[in-house]
Amino acid sequence: MKTYQLVRDIPIERGYDLVVAGGGPAGSAAAICAARLGAKVLLIEATGCLGGMGTSGLVTAFDPMANGERMLVGGIMREIVETMYERGFLQPGIDPNVWRKHDHRWTPFKVEGLKLLLDELTTDAGVEVRFFTRVIDADADPESGQVDGVVTNNVEGYRYIRAKTYVDATGDAVLAELCGVPCRDAGRDTPRIMPATLPSLFAGIDWERFDKKRHKREALSQAIADGHFTQPDRHLPGMSRVGHTIGYLNGGHLFNLDALRCKSLSAGMILGRKIAAEYTEFYRKYMPGCEQIEHVTTAALMGVRESRRIVGEYELDLKDYLARRQFPDQIGLFNKYVDIHPYDCSDEEWERFNNQAFDEMRLAPGECFGLPYGILVPKNWHNLWVAGRCVSTDVPVQGSIRVMPSSAMMGQAAGTAAVQSIQTGQPACDLDTAQLVETLRENDAYLPQGELSAQMTRS
Ligand SMILES: Cc1cc2nc3c(=O)[nH]c(=O)nc-3n(C[C@H](O)[C@H](O)[C@H](O)COP(=O)(O)OP(=O)(O)OC[C@H]3O[C@@H](n4cnc5c(N)ncnc54)[C@H](O)[C@@H]3O)c2cc1C
Repeated sequence: MKTYQLVRDIPIERGYDLVVAGGGPAGSAAAICAARLGAKVLLIEATGCLGGMGTSGLVTAFDPMANGERMLVGGIMREIVETMYERGFLQPGIDPNVWRKHDHRWTPFKVEGLKLLLDELTTDAGVEVRFFTRVIDADADPESGQVDGVVTNNVEGYRYIRAKTYVDATGDAVLAELCGVPCRDAGRDTPRIMPATLPSLFAGIDWERFDKKRHKREALSQAIADGHFTQPDRHLPGMSRVGHTIGYLNGGHLFNLDALRCKSLSAGMILGRKIAAEYTEFYRKYMPGCEQIEHVTTAALMGVRESRRIVGEYELDLKDYLARRQFPDQIGLFNKYVDIHPYDCSDEEWERFNNQAFDEMRLAPGECFGLPYGILVPKNWHNLWVAGRCVSTDVPVQGSIRVMPSSAMMGQAAGTAAVQSIQTGQPACDLDTAQLVETLRENDAYLPQGELSAQMTRS
């Protein structure tokens, strides 16, 4: 490809302690928690609201936060879900034990409620939020592991923004990659890419007559046998109740979609909308309670499950997960099973998927595994952290911890670590993790490890 050299003088902004790129569950948590600890934070978000996949992506259900005995996810994520409950932003009539105690239970919520709450929490904490702005370049030195500034673009043009520390919460490790951090790209550094989905919101559902089990099994099998769908996809994560007649559909896989290629993403949005229309007809025709169903909208963000992961100080892998390993420097505990969706519509994939979710891979009640600090830190970097879907794990573990509650826990830890780094001069790659764990505990994280260590666990 021919190249064009872009040379321009652009305004420089300075004075920030922390710049967070991406305002999804991870980035919002990082920004709020750092600002509450006294940092001057700029949160840069490409869309017009916070929440990422939980709002613009219409993924309106929090993944499990407890392990059948107790709630594992504390801190800002617990504050968010409890506040949403108090304000009537969760599924009507929901039992709080769904997130406080039960394992493998989802907490559906109203999109607008999460948007409002994140606006409020960031405003109250004093975070400066910049919407409709993308991080498009980084001034960084991989040799010294130092980021000096980021370049952003929005309706006002380009800006060079300087800060003391940076958190990449873009989901795709956009900032880390721009900095020159080694990364693993799905489909290039791995044999396959987990499929994406374009979620939808529906209205007009009579939930009293809607049989959740039936729609994923008998109704779906019948529709596939009738040739209703363009692709015979037997895995339907399903329709969740989020309002009196409203449902959120996580359904319709976009196989082989490469979220790091714009052409593939664009084709996926078009196909996703076509598939969503097929599901609308499926529900109307095959599901009692859906005779009056109306398709309100598909999401504005593609539902990407897997794109890019950084190579960090620690790579959390399947061995750790199977051993239910805990770490002295863990910044969170989690118990979601490894959830790798079928890569295609074949019988073999359907078999593999069913075994993975319900066999020895599934954590039993009371079980959990730890998220060590090193998964957030690009190897040898001093003032850069990564949080959320793109942290340092193998593919199976990413299939567990890519979800919203764990992303928020990682965001809280990254924001807290950035503040500690500024206050003490400790670099990200040599942070006193005992001190970090103590600060996270003071801020409601559940971290029961008896023994702490000043040194992070490294691969
Ligand atoms: C179909 C589907 C269903 C899912 N279901 C569930 C579920 O039921 N429960 C659950 O808990 N999780 C679910 N997940 C997972 C979960 O939604 C995401 O993995 C999670 O939101 C990741 O959080 P994040 O903050 O890392 O990234 P995201 O939520 O993706 O947020 C990243 C944010 O960064 C912004 N951004 C990206 N690039 C830039 C840039 N260059 N500059 C500025 N901003 C940028 C984006 O606009 C976005 O707002 C699902 C995912 C998918 C795809």
